[in-house]
Amino acid sequence: MSEVRVRFAPSPTGQFHVGSARTALFNWLYARHTGGKFVLRVEDTDQQRNTPDALQALMDGMRWLGLDWDEGPEAGGEVGPYFQSDRGAIYQEYIEKLKASGRTYEKEGALYFRLEGERYTEFDSHLGQEVEKVKAAPQIIDDMIRGKVERAEERDFVIVRSSGDPVFHLVNVVDDLTMGITHVIRGEDHLSNTSKHCELFHALGAEPPRFAHIPLILKSTGKGKMSKRDEGALIEQYIAEHFVPDAVRNYLCLLGWSPKNDREIMPINEIIRNFDFGGVSQSNAKFDHEKLTHMNAEYLKSLPIEAFAEKAAQVLPAQMVNDVYPEYLTDVMGLVQAKVNRLTDLPSLVGYFFSDSFENDPKVGEKLAKKSDPIVKAKDIRAGFALIEDPNWSVEALEQACVSCADAAGGKKFDYFPMLRYAVSGSGGGPDLLPMLKVLGKNRVLDRLDTYIGGVNS
Ligand code: GLU
Repeated sequence: MSEVRVRFAPSPTGQFHVGSARTALFNWLYARHTGGKFVLRVEDTDQQRNTPDALQALMDGMRWLGLDWDEGPEAGGEVGPYFQSDRGAIYQEYIEKLKASGRTYEKEGALYFRLEGERYTEFDSHLGQEVEKVKAAPQIIDDMIRGKVERAEERDFVIVRSSGDPVFHLVNVVDDLTMGITHVIRGEDHLSNTSKHCELFHALGAEPPRFAHIPLILKSTGKGKMSKRDEGALIEQYIAEHFVPDAVRNYLCLLGWSPKNDREIMPINEIIRNFDFGGVSQSNAKFDHEKLTHMNAEYLKSLPIEAFAEKAAQVLPAQMVNDVYPEYLTDVMGLVQAKVNRLTDLPSLVGYFFSDSFENDPKVGEKLAKKSDPIVKAKDIRAGFALIEDPNWSVEALEQACVSCADAAGGKKFDYFPMLRYAVSGSGGGPDLLPMLKVLGKNRVLDRLDTYIGGVNS
């Protein structure tokens, strides 16, 4: 079989939407699975709506997701140009070919493509007038997801507007033909265009490529197609929120595709190996932002701690990161790595590791005050901790101090935990307490206990 050549053909008019990203991804996966080529072609014929910013956002987004293209803008290639706005001469050549073949005619300044078949007229209630229709033979669309789909066009259609601009159907087909595209992988919303495209391929003496119309992405409620305004719809947002790109990509792979073994979190090489259209569902996929965020958390958990700390440093305020030893940052991150869903949650989770002026949660304070003698306990444990001689201020030494205090008071070591957590962090939740005290260090812990004791007394 000849080399597989697929393309992603966006019209960059706005932000980079998960729907487009998923189309790009499925093309990329198929190219990488088959050892073929992935082409990026920019359908920018609508000059008013296509902006350089939108193109940049698209390319940044694709690169962030690791979707590298073999041919296209900034990559070059032998069948360019890769911007439709630069391909006018090629379109003209193919318009001439169609004219020469007798398959076109002009009407009201526009150029029409003529279908073959018996003609008849019918009243069109939409248009409120008689229209000419054609009994054209159905086109057989060889779709890798839906099987063979037959569709017959009924009316001649415009290929060049009276303004002189060639329409989408024509340029899309001419590009796929001249770029040697073997498989067209695109959203199901284009299925209704495909019989026109097949007509044009045949009129140009070419076999249409194979098609794969991928199911739509629905809102999380399942009601309606996902839009750019829905939560989690924009790739830009994941970049800004420092999501793990591999996690977002992994999630997008599962929007419509699944491996036969029910696995979800998979390294990309495994996905590439298993990806095919037999695994793509015919029914629409529901977008689930929570699931994506959960997947991000799983990826964050599995990062080596140094890599996690490096990423964390990008979202933490500079004054937190710059004033501490890198080892301290890594130790703090080691405590919270398994607990964050997204990196942008970090600053509020770890503030107290970096500054003494953290906020106290009043509800937690009140609850503590109702319990038996938190100040007495704080004084006792402070005295116990001060006696720790272990220069490592180890978890074992801390634990031992708690046990000794508890024994002396006739209680349990856990009696001290809620008060300790509140005194050092102002909150009622967080990482495991003793490892957290170890990371904070002796001076900070004793100082904060002093503040707590003094503050409650005053
Ligand atoms: N520019 C079209 C779109 O963004 C391309 C359709 C296609 O892939 O053929 O929907």
